[in-house]
Amino acid sequence: MKQLMSMLVLGVFAVSMLTANGQLEQQRMPQPADRPIRSQDALCDCEDPVIQELEDHETAGLLLMREEEKLARDVYTKLGELWNDRLFFTIAASESRHMEAVKHLLDRYGIEDPAADDVPGVFRNQELQHLYDTLVQRGSESLEAALAVGALVEDLDIKDLQDLISATDKEDIIRVYENLMHGSIRHIQSFIGRLNALGETYEAQFITQEELDTFIDQSREDVREAAGGNMQRRGMPWR
Ligand code: MN
Ligand code: MN
Repeated sequence: MKQLMSMLVLGVFAVSMLTANGQLEQQRMPQPADRPIRSQDALCDCEDPVIQELEDHETAGLLLMREEEKLARDVYTKLGELWNDRLFFTIAASESRHMEAVKHLLDRYGIEDPAADDVPGVFRNQELQHLYDTLVQRGSESLEAALAVGALVEDLDIKDLQDLISATDKEDIIRVYENLMHGSIRHIQSFIGRLNALGETYEAQFITQEELDTFIDQSREDVREAAGGNMQRRGMPWR
């Protein structure tokens, strides 16, 4: 038995040597030291048999999205109260579900929740804190300005999600990000639709105008396709 263990250890060492140049990194067998320590309860919540270790940028991405969805929820709640407009509350409820979806991933990968206290309008990420303060102030000027703030938050959200999706190969993370992006496209359609009805327009700030125009023209079915054709097959509920 001891001999077998030695062979296994040597085997793992040999695999590590092979992957030292990083090219075979994806095929690397999970090693005991790689696995985050987690309770049986947490394990039961997992869809994937093996939880892979995240790259630092993947962890940073989850931390960002947890608070970026909170930014959307908190800004819309505030502006909804200011303008007594139902659209903001409807979309804020969707952002709340998006926050939960990211929280599931944080739990799964054993990452501390930056929004654990969840005080409305308070963020650990100082860039998001500054953005919240700026956007609420801007959205207080008029209903039109508030709707434009909504479009801007979704514009930023779509851009960040696009970047994060292209920078990870973790299926469960991609699935959640696609779901969030799906929602964002629907939301930006709603905000811009209302703006247009009031005789206003919105110009893309983060994604390209061409991309935005494509999203605006999309039907509900198209949105489902564009945000990730896999969602239906995977049985993800539309948000
Ligand atoms: Mn969202
Ligand atoms: Mn949204």
